[in-house]
Amino acid sequence: MGGLRTAESLRRYKYPGHIHILGDEWHMPYNRPPLSKSLLAQDQEFAQVSFPIKSADLNTEFTLGDGVRQLSMEQQSVTLQSGKKIQFDFLVAATGLRSKKLVFPNNLQGGRFALRTFDDAKAIRQAVGSGKEVVILGSGFIGLEVAATLKGLGCRVKIVAMEDIPLGLILGEPFGEEIRRRHETKGIEFYLNNRVTDLVGNTAITHVKLVDGQSLTCDIFIEAIGSAANVEWLEGNELDLTDGLLTDSSLRAVKSNGTSVSNLFGVGDIARFPNIRFELPPRRIEHWNIPLESSRRTAREIVRQVVPGSIEGFESEDGFNPLPTFWSDQFEFSILSYGEPRLADEIRLLEGNLGEEFIFAYLREGSLVGVAGIGMKSKINEMRKDIIK
Ligand SMILES: Cc1cc2nc3c(=O)[nH]c(=O)nc-3n(C[C@H](O)[C@H](O)[C@H](O)COP(=O)(O)OP(=O)(O)OC[C@H]3O[C@@H](n4cnc5c(N)ncnc54)[C@H](O)[C@@H]3O)c2cc1C
Repeated sequence: MGGLRTAESLRRYKYPGHIHILGDEWHMPYNRPPLSKSLLAQDQEFAQVSFPIKSADLNTEFTLGDGVRQLSMEQQSVTLQSGKKIQFDFLVAATGLRSKKLVFPNNLQGGRFALRTFDDAKAIRQAVGSGKEVVILGSGFIGLEVAATLKGLGCRVKIVAMEDIPLGLILGEPFGEEIRRRHETKGIEFYLNNRVTDLVGNTAITHVKLVDGQSLTCDIFIEAIGSAANVEWLEGNELDLTDGLLTDSSLRAVKSNGTSVSNLFGVGDIARFPNIRFELPPRRIEHWNIPLESSRRTAREIVRQVVPGSIEGFESEDGFNPLPTFWSDQFEFSILSYGEPRLADEIRLLEGNLGEEFIFAYLREGSLVGVAGIGMKSKINEMRKDIIK
């Protein structure tokens, strides 16, 4: 998504040069949020998640199914899996994340899944069906969304997670408890404050063992325990690759000695950037609005370097300061959040009732740092302008 959106923005800002998108997946760029929702629920085809592309306007070359293996800043080139070398004037790193997977003593693979790609979603969809016993490891957004979707397909779904409260650290305890209550009402079983210690079975998983001694029946085991940034191809260039690609507030890559690289950018999930809005140390944000906004900002910076003065107002623009935004659809309810609720030292129920629709305000030292709720979308949308700038 970040790669495609960068190319689109470059053309919008009249970038005059050649653009080449390199991807290790065989698919054209596609939208990931439906993978845990409609695509999984309805077994949709690729056309329903692929981003529409106007080839003539985009005027971009695609090389797919041939991932980048190594960057050489010295030679200003990247080498692909096939051995092909490509020179660049500007390079945008938008290689996103991959799902983390654990290693168990009986490290069985049969019946074991994670969800990051279209192919992952299709594989899960093929394996599940009414009556299947599904164990999901992790009670973050992806774990909860997949749980809701698979329950809707008639599976028996159990969630095992280390936290006491699903999403409690992100949205606060009362919100997280309400999410748990809603899932339990639908028949999802939680094993919280717990963890999987081993898998049981011969070629395929039949049970998972928990640290508290319980054994859960399991046909399908889905790990939804977070992601790791795809940065290995950037190694050897003195870049700071601790949890993603460290960038400055213009999204330019930062070297280990603290200097910025003027023609290498981080976009989307991979970028660990300082968000001056919240005065926080740099961090990655895994929400859909980040590839969108960081690609636009990067394209402007590139065009500024190539054709100085061509973008009105850009010279006086602030550093990249996006408002993190996410939504999550689970069963019939939709969560919407703006800002950084996890920073709050005070959480107030602002409107509504927990059992129905509601909005929480998240404050830090009296200033609004986030707003989130279930339903009440227009009110939440309206409140985002009050979040600190
Ligand atoms: C199942 C799922 C559900 C989600 N739901 C939501 C949601 O409801 N709301 C929300 O706000 N966000 C959601 N997100 C997050 C959102 O989709 C991501 O933030 C967004 O896709 C990030 O875009 P990106 O371009 O940074 O990375 P990606 O979209 O992951 O694209 C990176 C691409 O780079 C490729 N790549 C990796 N390494 C290499 C290499 N060495 N060479 C070449 N190519 C490489 C990858 O294969 C991938 O195709 C969801 C994500 C997932 C996985």
